[in-house]
Amino acid sequence: MNEFHIIEHYFKTLNSGSENSVKGEGVQVGIGDDCCLLEISARAQLAVSVDTLVEGVHFLENTPPELLGQRALRVCLSDLAAVAAQAKWFTLALTLPRADKAWLESFSKGLREAATKYSCTLVGGDTTRGPLTISIQVMGESAKGGALLRSGAQVGDSIYVTGSLGDAAAALAILQNELRPELKDDKAYLLERYYQPTVNFIAGRKIRALANSAIDISDGLLADLGHICTQSKVGAQIDTACLPYSDALLRSANEEQRMQWASSGGDDYELCFTVSPENCRAVDEMTLSGTLNATAIGKITEGSGVQCYQQEKLIEPPGEGYKHF
Ligand code: ADP
Ligand code: MG
Repeated sequence: MNEFHIIEHYFKTLNSGSENSVKGEGVQVGIGDDCCLLEISARAQLAVSVDTLVEGVHFLENTPPELLGQRALRVCLSDLAAVAAQAKWFTLALTLPRADKAWLESFSKGLREAATKYSCTLVGGDTTRGPLTISIQVMGESAKGGALLRSGAQVGDSIYVTGSLGDAAAALAILQNELRPELKDDKAYLLERYYQPTVNFIAGRKIRALANSAIDISDGLLADLGHICTQSKVGAQIDTACLPYSDALLRSANEEQRMQWASSGGDDYELCFTVSPENCRAVDEMTLSGTLNATAIGKITEGSGVQCYQQEKLIEPPGEGYKHF
């Protein structure tokens, strides 16, 4: 069983409204998207998402605490950006092996920096002892019917991704001594992309009225585009030759490695979104004028699953996304 079988089998059925479950009032979008969307007034909905980071699984042991605080909040906020909601509040459930003053000062500093940057207020949480684990629940607001969902992709849509892919996977390779960029600046850039991923609120807002569907890339492009396909009941074809890379990654890794990281390495937290043929022009105008950093990488098709092409030749997908089980 992978994590999605577990969710589907044991938890999704809890809100189906059947005899043994409760279908809550005001649930506009429940389990299955980057956030759930809950009706809070005639015009507004609350977007909520929770993510857990476990030491040794989601981050390496001895990660500098300030960077961990930065990263933890940013990766959680990314789910709000993916549905184009505005960040408002968060809660923090922290499990610590010990009360270490220096660690806590540094961690809370990083957390505060990210909270200030993205205007999000800490409003509660829970503090316990155990293996280092950080759970953050983020809450944001969006206009009713105004959120971007995984489920809206249509056959014929173009698929885009924001920014560049593969940087965070390269950073992990650096941290594990598997990659040594020649330039110090490239190393610093890639590490910053991992520790302080940009939360794409601005891009989310710009594409909100133009895109049919969106997701943030946390588990790898192929896996997350696969979620758009499943939720929208469509297929996708991408051209790996179109994948966008940063200059630092272009200088630091060969083509095969880059492609592998860009398609299956998680942690970039870029947005993947799909746009109808009528709206592509508006998106392309923004990318050409530099107001939106995004690249077209493929098309939504009939069928299911993601197929990879390299300059019109069908190829084996370069690796799989991250699997928890
Ligand atoms: P993301 O990568 O955007 O954080 P996930 O892949 O972790 O999303 O989760 C997929 C969907 O399943 C989300 O809608 C999430 O809220 C839901 N989900 C995950 N775990 C559970 C659970 N234990 N119970 C109910 N819903 C869950
Ligand atoms: Mg997500």
